[in-house]
Amino acid sequence: MNEIRKNIAEMPGYVPGEQPQAGSFIKLNTNECPYLPSSRIAEACLEVIHRGLNRYPDPMANTFRKTVSGILGVPAEYIMAGNGSDDILTILTRTFVGENETLRLPYPSYVLYKSLAQLQNARSEEIPFDENWHLTPLFTAPTPSLKLVYLPNPNSPSGTRLTRAQVLEVADALPCPLVVDEAYADFADENCADLVLQRKNIIVTRTMSKAYGLAGLRFGFVIAHPDLIQEFIKVKDSYNCDALSIAAATAAISDTEWLQETRAKIINTRTWMNDALKEIGFHTVPSHANFIWCTQPDWDLKAIYSRLKAENIFVRYMVYDKWGENGCGLRISVGTDDEVKTLVDRIANMEK
Ligand SMILES: *Cc1c(COP(=O)(O)O)cnc(C)c1O
Repeated sequence: MNEIRKNIAEMPGYVPGEQPQAGSFIKLNTNECPYLPSSRIAEACLEVIHRGLNRYPDPMANTFRKTVSGILGVPAEYIMAGNGSDDILTILTRTFVGENETLRLPYPSYVLYKSLAQLQNARSEEIPFDENWHLTPLFTAPTPSLKLVYLPNPNSPSGTRLTRAQVLEVADALPCPLVVDEAYADFADENCADLVLQRKNIIVTRTMSKAYGLAGLRFGFVIAHPDLIQEFIKVKDSYNCDALSIAAATAAISDTEWLQETRAKIINTRTWMNDALKEIGFHTVPSHANFIWCTQPDWDLKAIYSRLKAENIFVRYMVYDKWGENGCGLRISVGTDDEVKTLVDRIANMEK
């Protein structure tokens, strides 16, 4: 009775960052945007509510697809929306990776990919970055069971990235699709969205949760060759995006001015934040995302994380124990200038 599939019973399950719901806190642990999203959203949602929510939404979110197509210069048939980009990643994994087949990811990177493999009862191969966060030839080595490769670019937790030319090289060396997870691409100076027009095995995923300040909404999308999109449509839930989120995401993504302003603020804060963190003794890597990976082998980082938490300042303490001393660190999101000042000040005055 109640027999659970073995792979589910044995998997630990993905543990998301802490999401405190009440009280006042400085939240720098899950790479959200510290600013309110575009003001166009409220009106767009109200319009949907007034029209009534009695009808099912457009299963393909076509207004969103058309809007993104105009902004990214990729035809609408190349785009499919999802309930957050995690929903998209689930769809991709279910489409390509079956039982006992293999999914590959770099290490350290986004831990969710591994959980997605476990749900499929598939294998995952974690290929370590070298000490400078560069990929090694192992990452593109063909193996018979390899069905899908994930590459967060920029990467989390490091904030480092591959150039477009390097991504093309990786894709061309692989015998399977390469998913370029561009959750943080809006903070970088280049991205790979249009590479899907050149290579059928490049699949790009995006989210509205980070740069657009809509983590609470749940909206993401995938950009890929239309032949692949047709397969993803079979795998997704029929109505994976609701009418409110489609309207809100469309309004947000069309407000390009809001994005430019917010992006500029974040990058400006990121620049002085990196200097300030180094000044107080952290080792950091130049970030192309909205967070900074901070290591310091001489300090008890877990204690620093706990003391900050006791003061309602949340950062992410992460341990990638197969990666040596720099695999243990604090990943700190770029907040407002005031939030970051408070954080740096608190750590500077802490016993380490
Ligand atoms: C945050 C994040 C996502 C998930 O974004 P959602 O759209 O909120 O599901 C996907 N990939 C990476 C690397 C992320 O950091």
